[in-house]
Amino acid sequence: MRNEGWTLTRLTGRCLACLSAMLVLLLLHLCMAVTAHADATTTNTSDSNGLTALRLGTVSVDGQQALRLVVETNTPATVKMSLLSAPYRLVIDMRDVGWQIDSLPKKGRLDRSPATAYRFGQPEPGIGRLVIELDSPSAPFRAFALPPNKGGHRLVIDMADNGRTAFQVAAAALRDSKPIQFGGADLTNDQRTVDAETKMVASAITPPVPKPKQTKPTVTVNPAVGVPAPMKRPNRWVVFIDAGHGGKDPGAIGRAGTKEKDITLAAAIELARQLQATGHIRAVLSRKDDRYLKLRQRIKLARVQNADLFVSLHADSAASKSAHGMSVFTLSETASDKEAAALARNENKADLIGGPDLGVEDPEAANELLRMFQRESMNQSTHFAGKILREIRNMPGGDKRGHRFAGFAVLKAPDMPSVLVEMGFLSNREDESNLNREPYRRKLAGRLTDAIVKYLEEFGPEI
Ligand SMILES: [Zn+2]
Repeated sequence: MRNEGWTLTRLTGRCLACLSAMLVLLLLHLCMAVTAHADATTTNTSDSNGLTALRLGTVSVDGQQALRLVVETNTPATVKMSLLSAPYRLVIDMRDVGWQIDSLPKKGRLDRSPATAYRFGQPEPGIGRLVIELDSPSAPFRAFALPPNKGGHRLVIDMADNGRTAFQVAAAALRDSKPIQFGGADLTNDQRTVDAETKMVASAITPPVPKPKQTKPTVTVNPAVGVPAPMKRPNRWVVFIDAGHGGKDPGAIGRAGTKEKDITLAAAIELARQLQATGHIRAVLSRKDDRYLKLRQRIKLARVQNADLFVSLHADSAASKSAHGMSVFTLSETASDKEAAALARNENKADLIGGPDLGVEDPEAANELLRMFQRESMNQSTHFAGKILREIRNMPGGDKRGHRFAGFAVLKAPDMPSVLVEMGFLSNREDESNLNREPYRRKLAGRLTDAIVKYLEEFGPEI
């Protein structure tokens, strides 16, 4: 009996164990079903808005290919975007948006570069999160809404790779941004821009591709295999040096007849030489000879190179012969002082010398995203100006004028820290004489090089 009893107990115990395991399984199953049901409920009914379609396309902006992502929703979406790296990705958080595309899984691969994959989730109640994985540091440069046309309300995001600094600037600006309600009435400017300058090339979501079947594990792994195309600039920062004026625009004329355009070119070439010599920097000049360039052309040249920094060199003049010393300028809507405002006005006139520029009205000014990035790059430019001022303080007049700001058109790159260095006044005899001497320019270029390297080491993207 005892044995039997023991056996029975053991059996019962085993059965109980089985039963509890089954119960656990059943409960798990139920839980999953409930979760799935809850998930579906959240997705389909309790969210006041729904994501109904995703489309990708390509647009050409100023000759550059850009990715167009279109997110369709039932009603206009309130959106908070973020950019994250390792891997690069765009995160779009949408208030009260659920997934309502039955024909499409919530995650899948994409093959329209830079988009490589997407996934949708709800990190917290009331937030629908769409993540787009990217194969390069691409950042949105334009986002706007379009009213429904057959489908839902369309949120259009255009993205391009303007280098890692542009990505960093955009990421920092987006991090501090508030959610934006797209679909308001104030979209005419963006729409006009898009209609006027871009053309939708394609509009199709790439269906998710099933994962390749697992093959036998390979013994040796070559890390290079399967790695996407090599990065555009593997181990060097790019610094764009803009020699002010040129060609038919001589800039300021010194008391002894020195032309500003010659001084800026000589100084720019010397600065480029010293930056190159660091081995960590590729220096790009806006001009290597005496030629005229419009201010926006200078910015464009820098952006094409995915420059990490923009340095414009000048040596202007003032009505007062005694005005002397160096200033470092950054962009601002309001000038720091009257003289700065006058200098900026003067510099901006350079564009008028070349005749009317029909493309001079900046369509980007109407773009909220770029305004946001511009504010961030103005902050970063201020740090950069500080580094330069610390390095030049022992140069003649290097501690005289400090950091100033005004609306210089040449500093308006929205996603690249930019400064304008007034190396001295050609209207001042001593400054003019210094700037004409090669050893002086070499010393000044050395200080600027130190400042640039220090800035990039602290704030620049890793190389
Ligand atoms: Zn100038």
